[in-house]
Amino acid sequence: MPLNTFSPVSGNALGKPTESLPKGSKVSVIGAGAFGGWTALFLLRKGYAVTLIDAWGPGNSRSSSGDETRVIRSTYGANEFYFDLNVRALELWKEHEQRWNRKLFQNKGVLWFCYQSSTPLVDDSVPFTQKHNMEYEKLTPSEVQKRYPIVNTADLSHAWFDPHGGCLQAREACQAVQKAFVQEGGTFIQAKAIPGKTERNQLQSVKLSTGDELRADAFIFACGSWLGKLFPEVLGTIITCTKQEVYYFGVPHQQASTFDKLPVWVDVDGKDFYYGIPGNKYRGFKIGVDERGEPFDPTTGERTSNPQVLAKARKFLAHRFPALKDAPIIENRVCPYENSPDGNFIFDHHPEITNLFFLGGGSGHGFKHGPALGEKVSSILTGDEPIPHLFLLDKS
Ligand SMILES: Cc1cc2nc3c(=O)[nH]c(=O)nc-3n(C[C@H](O)[C@H](O)[C@H](O)COP(=O)(O)OP(=O)(O)OC[C@H]3O[C@@H](n4cnc5c(N)ncnc54)[C@H](O)[C@@H]3O)c2cc1C
Repeated sequence: MPLNTFSPVSGNALGKPTESLPKGSKVSVIGAGAFGGWTALFLLRKGYAVTLIDAWGPGNSRSSSGDETRVIRSTYGANEFYFDLNVRALELWKEHEQRWNRKLFQNKGVLWFCYQSSTPLVDDSVPFTQKHNMEYEKLTPSEVQKRYPIVNTADLSHAWFDPHGGCLQAREACQAVQKAFVQEGGTFIQAKAIPGKTERNQLQSVKLSTGDELRADAFIFACGSWLGKLFPEVLGTIITCTKQEVYYFGVPHQQASTFDKLPVWVDVDGKDFYYGIPGNKYRGFKIGVDERGEPFDPTTGERTSNPQVLAKARKFLAHRFPALKDAPIIENRVCPYENSPDGNFIFDHHPEITNLFFLGGGSGHGFKHGPALGEKVSSILTGDEPIPHLFLLDKS
């Protein structure tokens, strides 16, 4: 199967212990997207003196986290590690919504359209749903039709409905995390940061575009799709950036609320992967084509859409949701994927600089895991957890 967002390669979740960082140490986190923002917040709560730095701000439009919404789903086939990570993330999203009195998670459910009687990507997650009391519902095409008459079910074998998933307000959430981070005592700086001098295998500082130099005991570069260019010698071929597109279509006014109320959907095992998020706080019916796009520069790349990808999206939309056959595009976004070679996240230190850590490789599925990953990274630095083997740069 070509690499797609839905199936990171399964790996060893057991890990490599790392030296713990004493409480009170200074930590700089570079990048305030879903990975860096949550990590900075959890490190702060663990008693570190944390500075969070971002060139364009949390959830900015160049970042991977900068779109309106992101899907949250536990389904990862037989990959229990990500299922479990999502379970923890979901708990943390809900807890923080309450803490901040801010709606960030829409529990719309996730509807998986399946073409064949066996769909391992979903079927293999079912035992985990039972273990966690998060069961899915299996629906026949006629049950789907009855519930959602605007869906064409003619080519489906069945569908699975996951009532626990839904979508997250993505860029808003990054800003909420950064706000909480500052309110809880963290320091945020808007600047570009590059590594400064290294002495005895330790990075001493980062140089900021403001002209300042910031010293710290440890540095976590959570720079999404910029990581490959920032550390070409280590990550140049490991983290690659591709151009990904999502489109927001305008639904007919007579059926606007019917469309808005649809769950998040994923079209699983046709030739191409499509997924969508209806509603988006009235911005339109969003569709994504989940195949890797062309190589992309996240700083200078023009955010214009590719006519071939758009044609695919339109064709699929007309097929699955016939009422949208002539729907107009009302917005489109280009977001970068920061792909790791096997779809797994990366958290590891630089091979020669032991206080410089890389955090990234979200590979099109990282956003939802932000809080659980941030919590995990903070526990790794305190020495309470090892680095999961599947996050390591060298898995040999
Ligand atoms: C089209 C699309 C759809 C997706 N769909 C989903 C989904 O449905 N569900 C899901 O869970 N995930 C999804 N993802 C993946 C998810 O969005 C990413 O994995 C996640 O947002 C990555 O977060 P990040 O913090 O690693 O990177 P980013 O969000 O890109 O953050 C990196 C930050 O670093 C900053 N930065 C970079 N270089 C520097 C520097 N030198 N100095 C200072 N700051 C710097 C940038 O400004 C940026 O804010 C999708 C991604 C895309 C592109």
